[in-house]
Amino acid sequence: MRRGIISVVVLALLASLSLYRSSSLQDWLMARLSKAAMSQHWEEEQALQALVCGSASPLGVDPGRAQACIAIVTPEHLFIFDTGAGSVQRLMQSRLPLDRINGVFFTHYHSDHIAALGDLNLNSWVNGRPAPLQVYGPAGINTVVAGFNMAYQLDRGYRTAHHGEDFLPAAAGLLQAHEIDMGIVWSDAKLVIRAIKVDHSPISPAMAYRIDYAGRSIVISGDTVVTEDLFTAAQDVDLLFHDALSRDVLNVMIDAAAHVGRERIAQIMSDVIDYHADASQLEARSAAANIQQLVFYHMVPTPANPLLSIMFKRDLNGKTILAEDNMVFTLPVESREIIQR
Ligand SMILES: [Zn+2]
Ligand SMILES: [Zn+2]
Repeated sequence: MRRGIISVVVLALLASLSLYRSSSLQDWLMARLSKAAMSQHWEEEQALQALVCGSASPLGVDPGRAQACIAIVTPEHLFIFDTGAGSVQRLMQSRLPLDRINGVFFTHYHSDHIAALGDLNLNSWVNGRPAPLQVYGPAGINTVVAGFNMAYQLDRGYRTAHHGEDFLPAAAGLLQAHEIDMGIVWSDAKLVIRAIKVDHSPISPAMAYRIDYAGRSIVISGDTVVTEDLFTAAQDVDLLFHDALSRDVLNVMIDAAAHVGRERIAQIMSDVIDYHADASQLEARSAAANIQQLVFYHMVPTPANPLLSIMFKRDLNGKTILAEDNMVFTLPVESREIIQR
């Protein structure tokens, strides 16, 4: 990482001196930068880790944020929970070892949670994933997966024809669907994933997930209002990623939209209020469930500027974290510590 930063600083210095107009210097710099970039890799830790690969909601635009995505990483596992638009760029930036991906879990099938599934499938296949990508979700998963497989059928054929069957085996380029119900949905000797019923009405079913690994635990809410089921299942967990809606911000925006005659926008913003969690309720519920760290993600609206972030935090206690893309939370085994970078 440090070598990469030094290279960028050197590049900026040379650019400012206009020395980069020399072709040989360009080649030298490009070689250094390429080697630095290609030698970077995800740093394995004896820990349960979460990468925020998408912190935005569909309401509001922030080029620095992808839509809903959390990656869960251990030395033996890699799972992706939701694949919102732009999220695969975050996974690539973070140098996650996509070739060893165990699977994707969907919370529900709103487009802001599934849009990048094709990108994830392609990138993990090209990186060397040896078998079809396993995709898990509630009822509806067979339709979603069949649709992606059909839409990318031609692309898979092009890739295999171009690179060869040995390099990109056609059979490994497919998605494989698994319809799941509430309860334990994946486990091995070290890691357990449970699906939890949540309330995103009228969208049903919708799931949250709890991940337990070596005594550490994380819950990912997906989209839901505040529900008893989630906080019961999240009792005593280390880390909770919860979707969050700021009524204060939305009320101002709804009034503004109505004031300038944008009735459709005002209507859409009014409609989202009843199927996301009111941010002002989440800290008390998390404290009652003895949750060590609450993190807001999928924020409605997306805090695309500092004013929105300040308004989002208006009634919070100062400990809750507003997720940003590429944040990493590390929960070392045999510890209660949560390290955020
Ligand atoms: Zn949704
Ligand atoms: Zn959503």
